[in-house]
Amino acid sequence: MTTWIDTHCHLDAAEFGSEALAVRAHAAQQGVKHCVIPAVLAANFDRVRHLAHASGGSYALGIHPLYVKQAKDSDLQQLDAQLTLHRDDPRLVAVGEIGLDLWVPELTQSPWRERQTNFYLAQLKLAKQHDMPVILHVRRSADLLLKGLRAVGGGRPWLGIAHAFNGSNQQAQAFIALGFKLGFGGAMTYERAQQLRRLATTLPLESIVLETDSPDMPPHWIYKTAAQREAGEPQGRNTPGELPRIGAELAALRGICVEELAEATTRNALDALPRLRALLASF
Ligand code: ZN
Repeated sequence: MTTWIDTHCHLDAAEFGSEALAVRAHAAQQGVKHCVIPAVLAANFDRVRHLAHASGGSYALGIHPLYVKQAKDSDLQQLDAQLTLHRDDPRLVAVGEIGLDLWVPELTQSPWRERQTNFYLAQLKLAKQHDMPVILHVRRSADLLLKGLRAVGGGRPWLGIAHAFNGSNQQAQAFIALGFKLGFGGAMTYERAQQLRRLATTLPLESIVLETDSPDMPPHWIYKTAAQREAGEPQGRNTPGELPRIGAELAALRGICVEELAEATTRNALDALPRLRALLASF
C-alpha cells in the first residue's frame, strides 16, 4: 500500500471533537501513516500533545497569527517553558503554527499587525534557541515572513515547512533557498487555482510536502458552494483521509506515478522535520 505523511492536520479542532481518533484511524486505513498536529494557541498545547501520543502522531507548539488577539504576552514564556519541558519527547517535532496573516483585514491594522509581527519574531527566536524547525502560516505575507527569517536567522539556515503555500514562484524559490519545504494540499485540487497548480507542477520535487490542513481547506470533491450551503447542505469536513487523493492529483499534474510522489514527499517531510525522521526510525 502506498503510504503518506500529512504534514499539517488540526486533529484537535472542535470540528473533530470526540471523533478525532476515529478520523485518524480512518486515514491510517487509507495509507496515511503519520499526521503532524500543529498547535494554534497556548490553551491547546496539552491537547495536541495528548492527541499526538494517543494517535501515534507528532506535534508542534506555537501561537498562530489568527489567535494573537486572544493570546497573552506570557504565552510566549509558556511556549519557551514547554519547549524545554518536552525537549526529550520524540513526538515534539517543530515550533508551529506561527507566521503572519495579512488577509484578514483587521489583522493588517494597528495594533494587531504589530502584535502578529512581535509574536512571529519572538517565536522564530525560540525556534532557534531550541534548535527546532518551524511550521509557517503564509497568507499574503510571504515577503514579510522571509524578512523575519533572514533577520532572526542571521545567515544560519532554517528547517521547516511553509504550509499551504500560495505565493509567487520567486517567493517559493526564496523559501527553498532558506531551507524550507513548501506544503501543498486541497487548494491545489481546484482547476481554477491555475497559478498554484503551475507552481506545484514546476517546483523541484524535493521541495514539496503534502498536507490536508484538515478540517479546513476542503479539496474540490468535498467543497460545497454557497448555493449548495444555502440549500441546506453543510460544508464538507476535510480529514487526513483525503491526503492520498490529493497526492494522486498532484502526481497526475506532474506526470509521475503516485508511488514516486508519495516516496518523495515522505522523504521531504523527514528532511524538513529531523525529529520526525528519528521518531519514525525508532519503530
Ligand atoms: Zn494550520
